[in-house]
Amino acid sequence: MTMLSQEQDKREDLIFYIDDPGELTWDIEVDVLVIGAGGCGLVAALAAAEKGAQVFLVEKDKNPGGNTSLSQAMVPAAGTRVQKDAGIDDSPELMAEDILKYNGYQSDPELTLHVARESAQLLHWLVDSFGINFELVTEFLYPGHSRHRIHANHSRKGAHLVNDLLQAAARYENIDIAYNAPVKRLVATGGDRAVVGAEVEIEGIGINLAQANKVVLALNGFGANPEMLRKYIPEMSEAYYFGHEGNTGEGILWGEALGSQLEYMGAYQAHGSVAHPHGTLLTWAVISLGGYQVNLHGRRFVNEYHGYSEHALDVLRQEEGVAIDIFDQRIYNTVVDYEDFQQCVKMGAIKKSGSIEELAVSFRLPPEEMACTYEEFQTAARGETPDPLGRTDFGKPLEPPLYAAKVTGALFHTQGGLKVNQLAQVIHTDGTPIPNLYAGGGAAAGFSGKAGPYGYLSANGLLAALVLGKIAGDEAGQSALQGV
Ligand SMILES: Cc1cc2nc3c(=O)[nH]c(=O)nc-3n(C[C@H](O)[C@H](O)[C@H](O)COP(=O)(O)OP(=O)(O)OC[C@H]3O[C@@H](n4cnc5c(N)ncnc54)[C@H](O)[C@@H]3O)c2cc1C
Repeated sequence: MTMLSQEQDKREDLIFYIDDPGELTWDIEVDVLVIGAGGCGLVAALAAAEKGAQVFLVEKDKNPGGNTSLSQAMVPAAGTRVQKDAGIDDSPELMAEDILKYNGYQSDPELTLHVARESAQLLHWLVDSFGINFELVTEFLYPGHSRHRIHANHSRKGAHLVNDLLQAAARYENIDIAYNAPVKRLVATGGDRAVVGAEVEIEGIGINLAQANKVVLALNGFGANPEMLRKYIPEMSEAYYFGHEGNTGEGILWGEALGSQLEYMGAYQAHGSVAHPHGTLLTWAVISLGGYQVNLHGRRFVNEYHGYSEHALDVLRQEEGVAIDIFDQRIYNTVVDYEDFQQCVKMGAIKKSGSIEELAVSFRLPPEEMACTYEEFQTAARGETPDPLGRTDFGKPLEPPLYAAKVTGALFHTQGGLKVNQLAQVIHTDGTPIPNLYAGGGAAAGFSGKAGPYGYLSANGLLAALVLGKIAGDEAGQSALQGV
């Protein structure tokens, strides 16, 4: 264990500056240090290890997974083999255009196209090299995606994806993983501000100095940092945070302290269908497949057929910040295998009734208003009258028995972060890469552009985590071995 002298830098809480890496006694020396064992970190570790680099993956929590474990494992990719088998004509250009259209053309168009181009390769690599199973999600089309391009495991559960990635990592002797091991500060040289390692606090041992040729920031954003939320996303600073508690934003603060450009700091992913008060995710598919939402007065309040992210604000604006999702047996049967949905069923979040009036009673909602809203919705769903709220996508009209669950809106993760280039290198405000530093996932600026929940096209989160993680791991591994 090494005791550190206090570097006299105003950012000493974030960065430990030294003149010469040789002047320190390092506890560990590796080619690539990956910080955060969620989807981005695990993929980066695998990619760097595959190149032959010695990798040290450190995780703050006692378990791996982060938000990736909590996710529905929905990964977007264009031009995949399963898409071709299903007869779906897709391309990276189309995928990039969908992302850009959704975010108001605010994300970097070249980087957006680059990750879209890399997306199929990432997916095929996970399948071919590690036997990780993905199927194409064809039961519904998320608003904004012009093609069926979301791939997920059968359970639609990120924890299983993390498990698969961990099993893959176990095959590599050149990957070491430490849990309960938060990185406290990056170590950088004072002159060129090149990152040369990090201080890792390892439980039972204390602060360890890890020297690394390359460092990958895979520690997500700042959803669990109230101070940063108040600064960048005040509208969600008091909202329910449904993401992982480990995501406290230090990766972004380290990058900023080193001079990195921050982008889209007001952007985030929220969700308008979290079962309340159970705190389990009721998939948005219940709405995309033809369900609808009412408030406590039994009235619909918006065209529900837009993204679940922006819909969170619509729900939070209702009385008590809640809504009731209403759907039917057809929809129930379609999503019943989703692990999160089963959790909702087990926890008693979903109620079943033979009629809308009975449902109204079980949720203590006004039965007459509920019946009136239901009739109006059904008439529009049958195409007999235009929907007063402008909805045009209904799937099919609902048929009793009906199901319902009380839901609220929640913050899932933040989308703003460190500007990266096509090699996932962290970019300084002067436009040059910060030496030896890479970022992906929620630590990097995402692909949702503008402030608010509006630019988040479904599955932008794992796109940034897995695709940038693969690029960062490839590049960090290769350049560490080449000594550049
Ligand atoms: C309920 C839910 C469902 C979602 N579903 C989807 C979906 O289906 N598709 C999709 O695209 N996106 C989805 N998202 C978003 C997606 O989960 C995230 O965008 C993605 O998982 C981010 O991956 P990551 O690797 O960057 O971060 P994470 O998976 O959160 O991993 C970051 C890890 O870093 C660790 N860490 C933090 N600080 C430190 C430190 N100082 N030292 C060491 N370790 C540290 C954390 O503990 C954490 O384990 C969902 C989010 C939620 C909350």
